[in-house]
Amino acid sequence: MYQSYIGLEIHIQLLTKSKVFCSCRAAFGEEPNSNICPVCMGYPGVLPALNEEAVRQAYLVCRALDCHLNEGGVFERKNYFYPDMPKNYQISQFASPFGVEGHLDLEYRKRKRRVRIREVHLEEDAGKMVHVGELSLLDYNRAGTPLLEIVTMPDLEVGEEAELFLQQFRRLVRYLGVCDGNMEEGSLRCDANVSVNLEGQGLGAKVEIKNLNSFKFVRKALSFEIERQIEILERGGSVSQETRLWNENRDVTEGMRSKESAFDYRYFPEPDLPPFHPDKKFIESLEAELVELPRTRKARLMEHYGITESQADFICEEKSTADYYEQAVALGADPQAAALWMAADVQKILKRTAGNLTDCPLSPERLAELLQLLAARRIHGKIAKQVLEVLFEEDRDPLEIIQDRGWEQITDAEELDPIVDQILEENPKAVQQIRGGDSRPLIFLVGQLMKKTSGRAEPGLVKELLSARFDLSFVQVLSMGGAIGGTRTGAGEVAAGDLKLVVDKLGQDKRLPKNIRFEEIEISRILSEEITPEDWAALITSLDAYLKQENASGVVIAHGTDTLAYTASLLFWLFPRISLPIVLTATLDPRGAEDALSNAILTATKQPPGIYLSLEGKILSPLNLKFERVAGDGFRNWNLEQPLFASGSLSLPQPSITDRTLLRKNLEQAISQVCILRVYPGMKGDYLIALMNSGVRYFILELYDTGTANLRESPFSLRKAFMDGKTRGVRFFCTSQQEGIVDFSGYITSHELWREGAIPMGFLTTESAYTRLLAVLLSCEAEEEVIRLMEECR
Ligand SMILES: [Zn+2]
Repeated sequence: MYQSYIGLEIHIQLLTKSKVFCSCRAAFGEEPNSNICPVCMGYPGVLPALNEEAVRQAYLVCRALDCHLNEGGVFERKNYFYPDMPKNYQISQFASPFGVEGHLDLEYRKRKRRVRIREVHLEEDAGKMVHVGELSLLDYNRAGTPLLEIVTMPDLEVGEEAELFLQQFRRLVRYLGVCDGNMEEGSLRCDANVSVNLEGQGLGAKVEIKNLNSFKFVRKALSFEIERQIEILERGGSVSQETRLWNENRDVTEGMRSKESAFDYRYFPEPDLPPFHPDKKFIESLEAELVELPRTRKARLMEHYGITESQADFICEEKSTADYYEQAVALGADPQAAALWMAADVQKILKRTAGNLTDCPLSPERLAELLQLLAARRIHGKIAKQVLEVLFEEDRDPLEIIQDRGWEQITDAEELDPIVDQILEENPKAVQQIRGGDSRPLIFLVGQLMKKTSGRAEPGLVKELLSARFDLSFVQVLSMGGAIGGTRTGAGEVAAGDLKLVVDKLGQDKRLPKNIRFEEIEISRILSEEITPEDWAALITSLDAYLKQENASGVVIAHGTDTLAYTASLLFWLFPRISLPIVLTATLDPRGAEDALSNAILTATKQPPGIYLSLEGKILSPLNLKFERVAGDGFRNWNLEQPLFASGSLSLPQPSITDRTLLRKNLEQAISQVCILRVYPGMKGDYLIALMNSGVRYFILELYDTGTANLRESPFSLRKAFMDGKTRGVRFFCTSQQEGIVDFSGYITSHELWREGAIPMGFLTTESAYTRLLAVLLSCEAEEEVIRLMEECR
């Protein structure tokens, strides 16, 4: 087994107005060689003077990285000759940098890691060389601008982890306001060193990769380099210490011809600059300036406002966004509503208009006002969205817009009651139909009422008033087959049958309250093990259409037992926001059908909106459902502290589920890329490779216990499959065979799996992870997006 070690050397350009040792402007994109002077050009006899603002920013970074602050930062000359360095030496720090022994904490794929920072030192940047044909031109505007170098210990292991580290570091310096973090423009640059060795043997030969100028390149170059070194070692060779470059066109690292590492820089103290001693006042002013850092802020927002991790991530990505959010909340916006609106509707408009939050007509005051109007029920959700659009066009306050357009909603039952009466009077035929048990005319009546009030009636109240007039609950029963609608044959076998017979019987025997009306719609008549993508497409599109009509109190889905865990969790992912209770039910024996169904129908009239399982008299969550016939307690939920009836913070982007043919096609396509495998002793890596050859791109591996599997060098291990999968872009999601949570913390092999890129599905069971993957694949194709959405499950 091999161990990889990655260390990073990060350079950031500090955001000072002037250069670090002279008063030239530190600006970019200006006329070449317009911001230079005798000092930064290194003329004889000139004296450098230290820019205190650069020192302050450098110390802020040291402090934010929890570095030990050196009492006296010494500047030294690093001597080398290169055309972009007019002085023939660079002023830097060597023996005594500003900060040492810091750290930055990281969590990647559920593995926490403390990355140690070796040192943080301040130096001056070099100029820029531009090659035009045979000519080499020099622009010294950049020469002498302040550059901060941050060197980590080799504490990172894989390319993805290094990428994440760099992203978090970028967020940190942007929070501190000391760097804009723009990698393309070079204000944040990264070199990396990689070494691979047999586990337990310490560091191997160090290879340096220079000039990684995007997050993606960091990940790709390091992943490539680790594989390259492992291959050399496996062939019995040895890795040579060298400097390499990432070739983005060929996706490989290539050796540089020059041997820069052998160069002797002959450091000696800069005679013209005294060491910098931070006094008490300087340190105190630093503390006062230190802002709350992203990690701490994220944790606080989650704890304090009860927002989800992905919402907190979104809000804390930029300091300005987090400030905006907290301002809106302080002005009275509901914290959760504000998070939701900012991440969804507001973000959508900003994207469309290419605007940004801090510089748009939607001030925190206006967002707070809009959300307060919504919370006070003075407008409903649909109108709130309209108001939001107008806010971006007209630069006025929300209340003004609402009053101007007459959008304030009617929430007063007394005001609506006479209109309801009038409508019922005008439509006697519809009333008669509804009393007879047909819910369809309800939609028509709601429409009439909305028309009479110009859309201002609060939709919830309208439904409430209408159903109060009829005192009826309408439940739609969608039948998917299974034993619940089945019959027993002479041989004792169960055959799929007609649920309508059960429903009719239930209607006659009066075990349900008289005011409940229910009706059966057959989606399919099969045993649940016979379910196909076509059946799912039929169920999902019917349900979608039915929910849009808004004329029912609830929906019941009668299903078979064997695949219930799949269908239930699939609906959970596909219907994150529903306005009704949806209740799935099943029974092992056709004789239990009436009990199961009447329980489910009652549940569908009583529960708040959500997706429920009504089974054996219990109410369960559609997520992580398991059936254990032998254990005796039948259905139950795994790994759920609290039953979840709506996906809430686990919600996914919504795919199109309206067109049945299209949905069937998309489902088939998604399913054909996925394979679920239970890991077992003797399982061959080649077997997985054969599946990859047949088009599988995503594996869901059911691992042993908390996430272990054989990764030895052997045909009977996953090792080869992981290596092969990596080159093809095949991904591995992992669940546990036991009633456990995959966390990759316990064993050597779980560490190996983590390093090979296995993605733990945390608390999700195999069935729920599989259907989440289907739902993700229905809504997006980009691999990185698929991974991100799957990883959100914690
Ligand atoms: Zn200058």
